[in-house]
Amino acid sequence: MSKNPTMTTTAGAPIPDNQNSITAGERGPVLLQDYQLLEKLAHQNRERIPERAVHAKGWGAHGTLTITGDISKFTKAKVLQPGAKTPMIARFSTVAGEMGAADAERDVRGFSLKFYTEEGNWDLVGNNTPVFFVRDPVKFPDFIHTQKRHPKTNMRSPTAMWDFWSLSPESLHQVTILMSDRGLPTDVRHINGYGSHTFSLWNDAGERYWVKFHFKTLQGHKHWTNEEAEKVIGKTRESTQEDLFNAIEKGEFPRWKMQVQIMPELDAEKTSYNPFDLTKVWPHSEYPMIDIGVFELNRNADNYFAEIENAAYSPSNIVPGIGFSPDKMLQARIFSYADAHRHRLGTHYENIPVNQPKIPIAHYHRDGQMNTYGGIRTGHPDAYYEPNSFGGPVEAPSAKEPPLRISGDAARYNHRIGNDDYSQPRALFNLFDAGQKERLFSNIAAAMGGIPREIEERQLAHFDKVHPDYGNGVRRALSKADGTERPAISVTPNTPQQAAE
Ligand code: NDP
Repeated sequence: MSKNPTMTTTAGAPIPDNQNSITAGERGPVLLQDYQLLEKLAHQNRERIPERAVHAKGWGAHGTLTITGDISKFTKAKVLQPGAKTPMIARFSTVAGEMGAADAERDVRGFSLKFYTEEGNWDLVGNNTPVFFVRDPVKFPDFIHTQKRHPKTNMRSPTAMWDFWSLSPESLHQVTILMSDRGLPTDVRHINGYGSHTFSLWNDAGERYWVKFHFKTLQGHKHWTNEEAEKVIGKTRESTQEDLFNAIEKGEFPRWKMQVQIMPELDAEKTSYNPFDLTKVWPHSEYPMIDIGVFELNRNADNYFAEIENAAYSPSNIVPGIGFSPDKMLQARIFSYADAHRHRLGTHYENIPVNQPKIPIAHYHRDGQMNTYGGIRTGHPDAYYEPNSFGGPVEAPSAKEPPLRISGDAARYNHRIGNDDYSQPRALFNLFDAGQKERLFSNIAAAMGGIPREIEERQLAHFDKVHPDYGNGVRRALSKADGTERPAISVTPNTPQQAAE
């Protein structure tokens, strides 16, 4: 039988007794010199780190991405070359709920992937929806505040949510998805993932292409109705954690097909919609899906905190052959995600094993919290600035990407003027069958319950502009819910396409 290791203090000294604190006499008080007790209590006080301000409740697992398609003419990224196999870790989440929130809530699901490539970590930090509620990052904190608790009541506020949404018509597309069947998935094995932002690919010839990343569940879609979810939450708050963890333990490894849509660089000037607007999709008919691979999740974390809570994803993590785009939301997230991790985990958060690239790292950042790598990462104690004569790391010109062609006068352009916020939600609405539409109406009515009439009217006017059946369907569901009749209104179709339907 193997001998158990000796228990020690954090300083390595053996602990003689872990059952009894030191007291002055059998019935006396504990002594301040019981350092072992003090250390234990002090550590317990520090077990929690700040939870994420957004996406606090999460679930994740390790896996592998395998590339089977060939998009080598678009990108030099090694992770995307045919046959490449790359280890990865995924973290899924709800948006608004705190760490202890129930899993089975109607909310967008975060869908974050970290690929440990041979050229550094590549993170795709997306959602289970291809679009988002806002298109300008200056509105992001406002939006999130409407989803979180009211500062006075400390309760969630449907009034705040619908007030903001009804004053921000760009949210209509995402609101429609959120209130549809896909807004309340049974778990994360049965959802799609979307990189959501437009990124770019670039090749050895220095050509740039715009790209959207999609991950299609191979388990199929599964959702709950509000009533089903209420029953689930009555039994367990951890339904998604249980589903994902148990499936992987049983060897039922979930898989997703990876697809891309690719747009030639100059097309971005021609599309009727702004292809860098996060509230819009690229229609499949214009930019068809290209299958490029599959990822599989096949290993649970040994320690949830170390590997899932500590996992730090940032859209700023790209690798040569993959680039950014003018998407304003992406540009802001490039800053804010890494910044959130510096706050939450510490300056050198990429030193935590789950965040460490699997290749050597060589940079000149110094000191600061969690510098556990021996001072500097340059390989020579005198090489602590650059350039230097001591063999310190140097640049890699081959990683230089082609210029991101951007022109225009710096101004605060009004993104609500001349932007069509209705056609794409209409295309989605028209995809729903009668049952899906009825559930959409009743989900919205349930979410709107009790909000001021003025806000309700303002939001109904947006639904009317998507489709007359949409607004009137919600009126019907609201009337049924609270017994106050809201007569159907006659809406003049606002587009020739709508008139034809
Ligand atoms: P298509 O008819 O070619 O595509 C429709 C897509 O909608 C499907 O491929 C599917 O995307 C998605 N979809 C199907 N049912 C639902 C549902 N119940 N809830 C949410 N999404 C659903 O038309 P378009 O490409 O022109 O898109 C039409 C509308 O479909 C868009 O305005 C958008 O709302 C929605 N959509 C479009 C996507 C895109 O990238 N073009 C992606 C997702 C949704 P998937 O295969 O990803 O499941």
